[in-house]
Amino acid sequence: MMQEPEFLSVLNPEQKEAVTTTEGPVLVLSGAGTGKTRVLTTRIAYILAMHLAHPWQVLAVTFTNKAAREMGDRLQQMVGPIASSVWLGTFHRIGVRILRKYGGMVGLQPNFVVLDSDDQERLLKNILKQYGVDVKKYAPSIMLDIIQRWKDRGLAPEAVTRAENSEFCEGRTLDFYKLYQQRLQELNAVDFGDLLLLPLQLFQKNPEILAEYQGQFHYILVDEYQDTNVAQYMLLRLLAKGYNNICCVGDDDQSIYSWRGADVDNILNFAQVFPDAKIIRLERNYRSTGHILAAAASIISHNVGRLGKTLHVADEGAQSGNLVSVQGFWNGTQEAEKVVEQIEDELHKGTPLSHMAILVRASFQTREFEDVLIHAGIPYKIIGGFKFYEREEIRDAVAYLRLALNPHDDLAFIRVVNKPRRGIGDTAMQTLQTTAIQNGTTLIESIENADLKAAAKKSLTAFKNLVLSWYEKAQALAPMPLLQEIMNQSGYLMMWQMDKSPEAEGRIENIHELYNVLNDFESVQDFVEYASLLNENDEQASPEQLVVMTLHASKGLEFDTVFLPGWEEGLFPHQRAMEEAGEKGLEEERRLAYVGITRARQFVFISYASNRRVYGQWQNALPSRFIDELPEEHIDNKGNNRMGLAANFADVRMPWAREKQAINKRRVGQRVHHETFGDGVVIRENGETVEVAFNRVGIKKILARFLENI
Ligand code: ATP
Ligand code: MG
Repeated sequence: MMQEPEFLSVLNPEQKEAVTTTEGPVLVLSGAGTGKTRVLTTRIAYILAMHLAHPWQVLAVTFTNKAAREMGDRLQQMVGPIASSVWLGTFHRIGVRILRKYGGMVGLQPNFVVLDSDDQERLLKNILKQYGVDVKKYAPSIMLDIIQRWKDRGLAPEAVTRAENSEFCEGRTLDFYKLYQQRLQELNAVDFGDLLLLPLQLFQKNPEILAEYQGQFHYILVDEYQDTNVAQYMLLRLLAKGYNNICCVGDDDQSIYSWRGADVDNILNFAQVFPDAKIIRLERNYRSTGHILAAAASIISHNVGRLGKTLHVADEGAQSGNLVSVQGFWNGTQEAEKVVEQIEDELHKGTPLSHMAILVRASFQTREFEDVLIHAGIPYKIIGGFKFYEREEIRDAVAYLRLALNPHDDLAFIRVVNKPRRGIGDTAMQTLQTTAIQNGTTLIESIENADLKAAAKKSLTAFKNLVLSWYEKAQALAPMPLLQEIMNQSGYLMMWQMDKSPEAEGRIENIHELYNVLNDFESVQDFVEYASLLNENDEQASPEQLVVMTLHASKGLEFDTVFLPGWEEGLFPHQRAMEEAGEKGLEEERRLAYVGITRARQFVFISYASNRRVYGQWQNALPSRFIDELPEEHIDNKGNNRMGLAANFADVRMPWAREKQAINKRRVGQRVHHETFGDGVVIRENGETVEVAFNRVGIKKILARFLENI
């Protein structure tokens, strides 16, 4: 017997058992933070260190690419460079790898492309149109979803029975599934679903190829097993038939992807499917404090049909840490401001920014946080999404506003002069720029004298006249109506309305969201200034960034401090989830709450707002029912619990209103400080905005809340 590797010594006995029981099927079923992922990584290291297999004979599947990279890094630390030869990645990555080698057997050429979800939808939309389907009535995205769910279940078009066909689009979905697959094949392309479906077909049709892989993979390991779908499960079962050494780890309470085809039965039925499976439970939680664990346990206990687990803090002697904070706010903006204040406090106390995260239920929630974070100068990154102000359509709209403010803004001019297309080509722009340089004028001034072709001159002159008319309007109109006019008259909005690509609609929504933003500004000047500050902020590339992401994306991760905003009925639990899936939908939302809370090591801040603007409409909301499910002795609710808020709405509202006024009050003569502009004196006051004479940059109009008295 070889000597036990040192990395085993840090494990507790159950973990060690899970690592060293290498032969036969093993299921590690345990709650959040009990070391499942750590067990899996150590198990690979153990297999390699004990020379039980070569690295390429080990197949390890993670839920995200990021998780695979992290596992790869850890492994490298434990066993060195051989780690890179392990087959480690998501199901999709493994699928690509198999298809690059044997795709020819299922009709693919080796250089096939993988389509992203936008491409997939565009492709299907074109087919539907070709067959005269009204895509306004039958959204391609919905049909695509139905098709993907079939793929998740391993069903090629031939395998979908008539009875299983959807009623959507007059029962023609199955026909379109066939056409869609044909079209993909013609394009030598696959979608994500195919990365599972095609390997399955490959194996079913070619037993010798299956046998090759079965012979290769001596050990198979799977993380986040509760969120595998049927196709993935079928693949695993086929591959594991060779050596029967399969180790899956998961937590049924963290199954949050059923809407994407995940099937929690895979974990519940593990022992039936893999007879003689050893089931190991880990009960010590190494991640979170006692209060956090108690809060998470209490929420999840409201779900029925669980396997049921107990969790204890690993170090019983340790203190149970801080209570879970629950706070109510008047509206979303105030919530964002308070959260960011709290982040600053934590930062002062020494928690690095990268160890804190804001986890939201819906991605629209991020914008409000972004605004406040930017003002506070806190670097942040949005995982799984674009920053609002970095989006193309927002930058374009800002460029239009800059032109309205100053027609001589050449950079803005260049950005939008041909957006939408106005027949102004590169040659015309070069001529214009040369003329401008020769005469020392701006681009817009040079149009008249430049030696341009008649057509180009005509459209440039027309554009110039538009810009000049906006310039005049900018003096009279409020920012929001001004932008609305510009977006309409320039044809910019129309450009996206005519655009057939799937993301066009989202872009239009973002422009509407920008109207919302502009509502909060007194002048275009203020907004443009604000927007230019954002870019400055973007350029400070800093490794220390706060993480902002959805709860769904946060699975498997951990942070010292976690902020969970927007705990309101309708938002969380999300209305749509409950409408579509009833009690089941609610339970999945509850699991999402459990996942959110258990991401935290030290602190959890839960919050809700009584008023929220959703797509431009103010909506009232009640605190989430999940707040009621938190155990009182483990939370600090700052005096405003759900009942209190409902009964004493006005009482709760008034103090906030007063406080907000007090914050915003900046009297003439008051000396103030601004993050970017430095020190100055208030010279005029007008409600929420004030004019300040800054020592360095002169007089500026500023929203009072962005100033500090000094
Ligand atoms: P989740 O369900 O959220 O995916 P998990 O069960 O995969 O959680 P891990 O992420 O593996 O849990 O572990 C949680 C934390 O506890 C990690 O920081 C890990 O390094 C630490 N940990 C796990 N086991 C031990 C141990 N035996 N001793 C010390 N720390 C441990
Ligand atoms: Mg994990």
